[in-house]
Amino acid sequence: MQDRFADKMSDPQARADTRLLGDFTGIYCRGKHRDVGRAPLASDGAALGVYGRTTPVVCAECAELLSYAEQRRALCPKDPKPFCSACDTHCYKPAMRELMRDVMRYAGPRSILHGYAIQGFRHLIESRKARKAAGAQSAADNEG
Ligand SMILES: [Zn+2]
Repeated sequence: MQDRFADKMSDPQARADTRLLGDFTGIYCRGKHRDVGRAPLASDGAALGVYGRTTPVVCAECAELLSYAEQRRALCPKDPKPFCSACDTHCYKPAMRELMRDVMRYAGPRSILHGYAIQGFRHLIESRKARKAAGAQSAADNEG
């Protein structure tokens, strides 16, 4: 593990963001990858205790996404960090970006049922604002 990663992950906001991604991906994986073998995430973030007592239980694909997302989040150069969906820098590689967008789309609304009302609503509102601000042309771009 890189020192820089551990250092960045000591930031409470980075931990909170990563934990939310873990929760969302856990919801997504439980719903979408029901038939796939799943195990508690064993990533650098998990090793640092970022997920507290609720390490997400995910399949190999979702574990790869989360490990990747941890690194992106930890090494985000923006301060303050915007919501990733509202950011003008697309730091995710396309496949990971697609997958994360699926996760958000699936787990965002459902997260409200799982006790993440505030984060879920904030995410919806920020995404909507960002889409509006982006206008028609880049909205088409964002929607792929
Ligand atoms: Zn999965």
